[in-house]
Amino acid sequence: MEDILLLAHTEADGSLAKAGLEALATALGLGGALTIGLVGAATQAAAGQIAGCGAARFLAVTGDAFGQPRYTTDAAAAEALCRAADCPIVLAAGTSRWARALPGVAYRLSGRVDTHATSLTSANGAPAVTRWFYRQRMEAVLTRSLRPWMVLLDPGCVAPWTGTPGPAGTATVEAVIVEPPATRTTVTGYQAPKTDEQTIRPDAKVLLVAGAGWTKKQADGAVHAAEAEQLILGFLRKAQASLGGSKSVVDLTGEGEAVLHCMTHMNQVGQTGSTPRHAKGLSTCCHGEEPHVVGWRFVNQRRAINLDAGCGWARGKADVLYVADAFEVMRHVNALLG
Ligand SMILES: Cc1cc2nc3c(=O)[nH]c(=O)nc-3n(C[C@H](O)[C@H](O)[C@H](O)COP(=O)(O)OP(=O)(O)OC[C@H]3O[C@@H](n4cnc5c(N)ncnc54)[C@H](O)[C@@H]3O)c2cc1C
Repeated sequence: MEDILLLAHTEADGSLAKAGLEALATALGLGGALTIGLVGAATQAAAGQIAGCGAARFLAVTGDAFGQPRYTTDAAAAEALCRAADCPIVLAAGTSRWARALPGVAYRLSGRVDTHATSLTSANGAPAVTRWFYRQRMEAVLTRSLRPWMVLLDPGCVAPWTGTPGPAGTATVEAVIVEPPATRTTVTGYQAPKTDEQTIRPDAKVLLVAGAGWTKKQADGAVHAAEAEQLILGFLRKAQASLGGSKSVVDLTGEGEAVLHCMTHMNQVGQTGSTPRHAKGLSTCCHGEEPHVVGWRFVNQRRAINLDAGCGWARGKADVLYVADAFEVMRHVNALLG
């Protein structure tokens, strides 16, 4: 197997995040000689965190300028690490930071980059990438002869490396000196919704998909959108679940109809939405083909609640279909969750 460089950026606390450890597990599975290339304001603690992984070399670009996620500095650091390591295969987690910087680095090195890889494995010493096309409907296996070949691995596809960390300071880190390039961008901080309002949780065990049925007239002839929202948010908080929505329900805001305020276009799953990875999924008041066929592509256990026993998409794509009123079921589920 060819030599591999794993690029990883450190977090604000100096550690490596789960996505980086997943990429490390993938790199180790390949079997080639492994070099770790770290980037961050501080890198020694991260090297210590994975000192026991068996890497042949640890390289690092360290400095305050490289602690901030920014194209110019990230690309300069990654380029210097690639040149210093001189490995034909370069692997990194598909974080927003690397997804922004590494395609440009591949261009500078006259290499190639593949993004959204779901695996990188070696068959008879030849590395091969798997990734999905056409909104996750077809899976392809890709090989390339051009080097360096950079691969961005989507987070959540493999179990992270969990080996024993070495005591801090045990890894011998070779500093790669990079003069921070001139930059016009200063990162002044992050703005994120309050934890309570955060409904998209990629690491959650359960995905709750809410469809437009929640906002439709119910048996009593009235719309109960406020209660629907309360039930959905109650479940999300109690189960720490992630929220997905059908296109119909996320589009309602623009149509002046009863809406679920917790639902935005960011929540949409399906062909024109996202395809999240969760162990379990519960679809409620949702009939659409796209959310069930494409949006649930990587959900392992699927259940659906629909009033309509003939709901073809829920029935055809769910392991279990509860023919029931989702309001009643979710009231009961939330009560059981306490
Ligand atoms: C090119 C293209 C791309 C598309 N991409 C996407 C996509 O990415 N994602 C997506 O979601 N859609 C997509 N769509 C739209 C999709 O085809 C459907 O129109 C949409 O998903 C329907 O949303 P829905 O199931 O929430 O609403 P509806 O079709 O209105 O279904 C509502 C369901 O709620 C049930 N219901 C009502 N009240 C209750 C209750 N009290 N208890 C239980 N069940 C109840 C009803 O029985 C019904 O089955 C796309 C369409 C096209 C043409």
